Amino acid sequence: MTGLYKNLVGLSRQQLADEMLVIGEQPFRAKQLWHWIYHQGETDFELMTSIGKPLREKLQAAYEVRKPAVSLEQTSSDRTRKWLVKLEDGNEVETVYIPEEDRGAICMSSQIGCTLTCTFCHTGTQRLVRNLTPAEIVGQFMVARDSYGEWPTPTDGGRMISNIVMMGMGEPLFNYDNVATALKIIMDGEGIALSKRRITLSTSGVVPEIERCGRDLGVNLAISLHAVRDELRDVLVPINKKYPLVELLNACRTYPGSNNARRITFEYVMLDGINDSAADARELLRLIKGIPAKFNLIPFNPWPGSAYECSKPHTIRRFSEILLDGGYSAPIRVPRGRDIMAACGQLKSESQRLKRAARTAMPEQPAGL
Ligand code: SAH
Ligand code: SF4
Repeated sequence: MTGLYKNLVGLSRQQLADEMLVIGEQPFRAKQLWHWIYHQGETDFELMTSIGKPLREKLQAAYEVRKPAVSLEQTSSDRTRKWLVKLEDGNEVETVYIPEEDRGAICMSSQIGCTLTCTFCHTGTQRLVRNLTPAEIVGQFMVARDSYGEWPTPTDGGRMISNIVMMGMGEPLFNYDNVATALKIIMDGEGIALSKRRITLSTSGVVPEIERCGRDLGVNLAISLHAVRDELRDVLVPINKKYPLVELLNACRTYPGSNNARRITFEYVMLDGINDSAADARELLRLIKGIPAKFNLIPFNPWPGSAYECSKPHTIRRFSEILLDGGYSAPIRVPRGRDIMAACGQLKSESQRLKRAARTAMPEQPAGL
């Protein structure tokens, strides 16, 4: 049963209070409902026992608490888990969970496809279908929590799904309003209650939205930098033609809330012979001078038809060491979930291909670094 009743998932606190007025209830009822939906994870109004029967019946007559469906769940040999999330219009997006020892990050998508065409990114070869709604963004988180049985919201801090990275498909700052509504729902202390300090939004560099993101959401910022010269970044990350490096780095310099304890992450995909020289690393240090920064070196994940190769392991190590010598943290990201095509830049279309081939057939695991 989908679409018949209005979905309460994805409404802001204010919108939920407004709905109470619509059915002739006091707005404070929204608080109770919020607790049931986002703290308890309850979807059945009948089981929301602290709510009186008359209101439960009214709710049932008009609303639903609806999460997206899961068409496929896969767990990698390294415990990375991926969900192919089925939306109400039949489109699908991917959500990935990357576990650490006793915690982990969920990597969420913000759009179906992407309008941008970064040349090393598989998502960039897909046209933008549409923005995800707040319900679909929050829904990805709820689906992951269902899968790990993490309801009600753990209050002792011991959560497996402890962090969010907005690094799935799409450019989150091109869907700012919906992403912001969703993240505010997730950060609300009376529900899912995930701190802004545990959320990182990655952008290719939509400069005009960066300040608002810091002021309004206060989440950690990650920048997909990938090149230290405009000529190269214009090719790798074409939005650079609109917002060149100097403007991007200025926005980073003034990002609200960043300090030495909360550094901006600069993501840098390692492309063999393209952006991985020692001179590039030194130029990178010069560029980000004065910004509270850390790096994340991402070995390029190839995809069928991609024009690049991943840098050699020793080249990546040399690059990392130059940044370390400059006084910055510069870990090399270990590719996770490659056997289920869950690694950076591999989302969505691989699953579609897989799905077409045979749901049970697994691709060979490419050699890791
Ligand atoms: N659109 C946003 C967030 C999604 S991409 C952005 O571009 O920041 C998340 C990260 O994965 C980005 O840093 C992106 O550059 C990187 N990425 C994309 N394709 C990749 C690939 N094939 N190999 C490695 N990293 C990739
Ligand atoms: Fe879009 Fe990010 Fe991929 Fe660029 S790297 S095409 S912005 S998803």
